[in-house]
Amino acid sequence: MSSCSFKPTAELLQARNSRLSDAPIVSSLGPEPWKSPWWKTAKGDRATFYYIVAIHILAAIGLVFFPTPGWKVIVASVALGWLGGLGTTVCYHRALAHTALRLHPVVKHALIFFAMFNGSGSPDSWTANHRQHHSKVETVDDISSPAIGGFWWAHLRWLWQAGNVPLNRWCPDLNKPEYRFWNRIQVPMLAVSLFGGLAFGWPAFFWLGAMRLVASLHAQCFVNSIAHMRENREHGEDSSQNIGWLGPIQFLQGENWHQNHHASPSSARFGWKFWQIDVGWYSIFMLELVGLATSVKRPSRRESAVISVVTPQVIAPQVIAPQVVAFDTPA
Ligand SMILES: [Zn+2]
Ligand SMILES: [Zn+2]
Repeated sequence: MSSCSFKPTAELLQARNSRLSDAPIVSSLGPEPWKSPWWKTAKGDRATFYYIVAIHILAAIGLVFFPTPGWKVIVASVALGWLGGLGTTVCYHRALAHTALRLHPVVKHALIFFAMFNGSGSPDSWTANHRQHHSKVETVDDISSPAIGGFWWAHLRWLWQAGNVPLNRWCPDLNKPEYRFWNRIQVPMLAVSLFGGLAFGWPAFFWLGAMRLVASLHAQCFVNSIAHMRENREHGEDSSQNIGWLGPIQFLQGENWHQNHHASPSSARFGWKFWQIDVGWYSIFMLELVGLATSVKRPSRRESAVISVVTPQVIAPQVIAPQVVAFDTPA
């Protein structure tokens, strides 16, 4: 991909150095971990790297030996992936990271279960990484920015090379037993997720496990990579973009309307036009109808009007200012 040639400008690096005290992400690979070879892991992230390598190898084997596993296995794999995607977008992203809605505790923890089972990690680390992304977007402090390390850095490599975002800085509101509980069971949950299908035979082992996890991983990672690789933009413009073709890959759950989202991060609704299908929003709307979602925030008329009249190349900078505060947690 041509955009892999992005390089951080001297201006960006200088800005980063002047603000290091505000962005204490420390990678054992050094201050510019994106310059390390892709296989080097930051301290504490080796297991993540091996996990990602392992599921890719297993998924490739499964695709070769069991390309047609039968409709039951396919339906079960898609259902698990669909629920996991919904857990990530509705609970992790919209409810926890951006506090765009409140979920009934039973719904919230059910969605956390499916998100973790789908390989999205624990709710606090996901939230911390994501809040850091919004707060530092378009700077080299953005932990997953393609502008500093190119496509593969933003898509995958930051997961095992960028170091850890400090949780106490970015999500003190999630420092509660109800969320810490999930951290403790993450490894056994992933083990069941990856190997549990074996109980139903070899095709189910590969499809319900590694193949589902790989597909779900890349569907999510496209939001960090290509949804932030809008080309031909003016200096200082936001890099986020809406990508229609990404919708079906993400079960039409709305994460592909990323430009809308950056324009109004605190909104629970990502698809703003009737044709911008956003199943995550439809789910929230129905949960709200039956009282299981409350305090649901919507984009203001001004925000949705601005984003609907500009072309992707001409974004009003005051609407998509990098400094926009995307969450309601104490700094
Ligand atoms: Zn983004
Ligand atoms: Zn967000």
